[in-house]
Amino acid sequence: MAELAPYAVTEANSRGRKIAETAPHSRSEFQRDRDRIIHSGAFRRLEYKTQVFVNHEGDLFRTRLTHSIEVAQIARSIARRLRLNEDLAEAISLAHDLGHTPFGHAGQDALNACMKAYGGFEHNLQSLRVVDLLEERYAAFDGLNLCFETREGILKHCSADNAARLGVLGERFLSNRRPSLEAQIANLADEIAYNNHDVDDGLRSGLITLEQLSTVPLVETHLHEVRHAYPALPERRVVHETVRRMINTLVSDLIQHSERNICTQGLAVVEDVRNAPALVAFSMEINEQQRALKKFLRTNLYRHYLVMRMSAKAQRIIGDLFGVFMADSRLLPPQLQPAAGQAEPDRARIVADYIAGMTDRYAIREHRRIFAVEEMPATF
Ligand code: MG
Repeated sequence: MAELAPYAVTEANSRGRKIAETAPHSRSEFQRDRDRIIHSGAFRRLEYKTQVFVNHEGDLFRTRLTHSIEVAQIARSIARRLRLNEDLAEAISLAHDLGHTPFGHAGQDALNACMKAYGGFEHNLQSLRVVDLLEERYAAFDGLNLCFETREGILKHCSADNAARLGVLGERFLSNRRPSLEAQIANLADEIAYNNHDVDDGLRSGLITLEQLSTVPLVETHLHEVRHAYPALPERRVVHETVRRMINTLVSDLIQHSERNICTQGLAVVEDVRNAPALVAFSMEINEQQRALKKFLRTNLYRHYLVMRMSAKAQRIIGDLFGVFMADSRLLPPQLQPAAGQAEPDRARIVADYIAGMTDRYAIREHRRIFAVEEMPATF
């Protein structure tokens, strides 16, 4: 591996873990973070959480798990090329959606609405809560006790109120400073991954068509090239080849443009990154094209009436579960029973943690167990 750039995050310049631990002997500190994330329960649950399409709609659609793996792949490639810490970029990518509710954004919006009077619900903050507190696997601490830089990367955005409560980790949102370049990479790798796989999944589902997509410049350029070079190629392969080229274009553009930005700043140490503007970025042209693609997906896929129906159903399930647990916390499973004795805001947070941790199918089953009259309470 090429030597890391002087402004990369390393074990030597890391701010370390909240609770000091002996250094690992067969891997780096950031590899240890990655490994803890992979072994967490929240990570395994990502397999059954919606990205856009609910898990039972088809085996080939992305789930939050495969999405997170794609993000990690893209982030690693970019980090390596920019001589940054690949292991950190990978750890952040794999953890970035750990706090996501079931049913994708519809679920997050519903839970946020339920939690309005109790400080709200934000999946990004929840991811941090999972790794800082909710995972119960280690004898010596709650959560995963990850390095500061991994936690900093997980917390992509944050309101001023929440930032003030978070102490050192929230500081950058109050003083308008940036996270590490590795965190900036993971953030944009997320965008590259979902824009492209949503095109692929959207086409597979039949909710959007190639013809519609050919009005989007980023797609059109590559689609035209592929069709011209391979006139007899079956449609599915045209899609894959087009998406592959789109990812390539975005990744290459991001690397080139970020390299230029980094060069102009004359960075010497990692603290310079935090004081500089955001340096990992697309060129203006590609940024415009990405925005046009996002807009297309919002209008034609995320707001497609069939997706909206699923979202409405998801919101109802989450609203119902929250309401019923708040009204009578004796319905919560035994390990959450202490919630019953808590003041309302604390009880709400326990209920929100429980709901956010559910997979799509678990939430559907739990809803059925509580609300379906034909369901006997003893069925599990
Ligand atoms: Mg994501």
